[in-house]
Amino acid sequence: MAAVGDDCLFCRIVSGEIPADVVAETEDAVAFRDLNPQAPLHVLVVPRVHVTDAAELADTAPATVASLVLLARRVAADAGHDSHRLVFNTGADAGQTVFHAHLHVLAGRTMSWPPG
Ligand code: AMP
Ligand code: ZN
Repeated sequence: MAAVGDDCLFCRIVSGEIPADVVAETEDAVAFRDLNPQAPLHVLVVPRVHVTDAAELADTAPATVASLVLLARRVAADAGHDSHRLVFNTGADAGQTVFHAHLHVLAGRTMSWPPG
């Protein structure tokens, strides 16, 4: 399992120790703007609990996975977007760089497929 607490960037953002541009919060998740946005709206929806990736979250707190998806839809809708893309990069080869599960919410431009 990845490092927790002091060693984990997203744990430190969730605790408020490191500032972030928070757009929404629930009991089990925090949504904040990505530092390096890839679309006009690019928000990360992060569970408060430290787990390495989406599958570990589904194993240990399955209801929180649904919570993240619903919060993502709310963030996109509140910004005026009907369509949005959700991405869980899982593992280094898939592009995961922060090993605290997070759901990317991208909206505000036409998306291409396949992704890079
Ligand atoms: P991933 O590559 O899927 O692990 O996504 C990690 C994301 O975190 C990247 O899109 C980064 O731009 C973003 N990121 C890294 N540090 C911060 C930070 N301090 N605040 C907001 N977003 C960040
Ligand atoms: Zn963490």
